[in-house]
Amino acid sequence: MNAEIVAIGSELLTPFRQDTNSLYLTEKLNQLGVEVIFKTIVGDSREHLRGSASLALSRADIVIFMGGLGPTEDDLTREAVAEALQLEVHRDPEIVAAIERRFASRGWKMSANNAKQGDVIAGAIVLPNPNGTAPGQWISGKYEGREKIIILLPGPPHELRALFDQQCMDRLRAKLPPQFIATRVVKVTGMGESQCDARVAPIYKRFTDVQTTILAGAGEIQLHLRTRADSLDAAQQRVDQVVEEIEAELGDCVFSDNGDSLEQIVGYYLQMRNATLAVAESCTGGLLAERITSVSGSSRYFLGGAVVYSNQLKTGFADVPADLIAKHGAVSREVAAALAEGIRKRCQGTLGVGITGVAGPTGGTPEKPVGLVFHALASDRGTEVIERNFPGDRKRIRWFATQQAMDMVRRKLM
Ligand code: ATP
Ligand code: MG
Repeated sequence: MNAEIVAIGSELLTPFRQDTNSLYLTEKLNQLGVEVIFKTIVGDSREHLRGSASLALSRADIVIFMGGLGPTEDDLTREAVAEALQLEVHRDPEIVAAIERRFASRGWKMSANNAKQGDVIAGAIVLPNPNGTAPGQWISGKYEGREKIIILLPGPPHELRALFDQQCMDRLRAKLPPQFIATRVVKVTGMGESQCDARVAPIYKRFTDVQTTILAGAGEIQLHLRTRADSLDAAQQRVDQVVEEIEAELGDCVFSDNGDSLEQIVGYYLQMRNATLAVAESCTGGLLAERITSVSGSSRYFLGGAVVYSNQLKTGFADVPADLIAKHGAVSREVAAALAEGIRKRCQGTLGVGITGVAGPTGGTPEKPVGLVFHALASDRGTEVIERNFPGDRKRIRWFATQQAMDMVRRKLM
């Protein structure tokens, strides 16, 4: 079975609000083995809504409408869906009474427009809303000769989630053939998306029953694998097999196969080796420390460090010789190395990291363009420096740099 999710609300068509509900519903539907084939966002217009409803009903087995169930003029979902289904709407006095009681329990008087939330499409099962006034609705029946499930949910995320979990999951499960889904995520760093795809495509193309999605971010590629089978064991074995082959192909570029982030992996390695880390950051402005300390328990291996943005602080806090900066410039291989060595010594860490670069968009020169970053890792066995030219805007360049630095730590301890 497949599904379409229709998000309703003119605010979702502005730059200020995003449809996050559909991400939640997609995850839940996928857990049930239902694939989402379309997502639609439509404003609070009865005509547009009716059109979207008809289209969705013509192409998906399950159609979920969310939002527009409130009491105001622009809440038109019930009416428009009923029109598309050519069904009547009737007012359910019990729902209206329940809304009245809900208001009364707070010492308020229900205003007349709230009664609209008691409108029910003919044949619908009313789904009580534990966190709000507007109930959901469930309709199952034939539309243009085909069996459909139609669900109406309120828009506020905390209402939608509770209502869907409590009222819809079991109902859907009962309608669907039993099947089991297994997923794995493989995370890769140190190669580009096209290079990665060229190497893994021959593998995933052989497993036609396993759906593979490649998501590329700054300095990280994620391979999402998913398959379904009659038993969980069978599904799991199948994805595990693909993961095994991918890991064999990509080697140490794979840093995680169980969902862990790079900062978590770096943490595992540091703990495993009984090592500590200190950082001196220039162009990343503390982002590396922020990412490392986002992991709970990082105090066991992360000592701390310094944001040494100015030359004065590079010298004062990380003991970078002033003449080294004068000779090579703050953004240089030599200064990166001195930052890593300086902070390692100052903090008495096993490892020291230094980062210096041009995050842009201003400050680039022909010799040192925007995106040029030097990453250094110092240990008792010397210092290594990696020079990279990252593409993208300031935010992306800074992220790339922290990714590269953490990968150096990971590889050092592997
Ligand atoms: P009510 O009017 O009773 O609050 P409703 O069902 O009419 O309920 P909306 O008015 O459409 O819901 O939305 C209420 C709130 O929920 C708004 O803040 C809106 O931005 C948010 N919301 C609506 N749809 C979504 C969505 N798809 N994803 C995330 N937030 C949403
Ligand atoms: Mg609305």
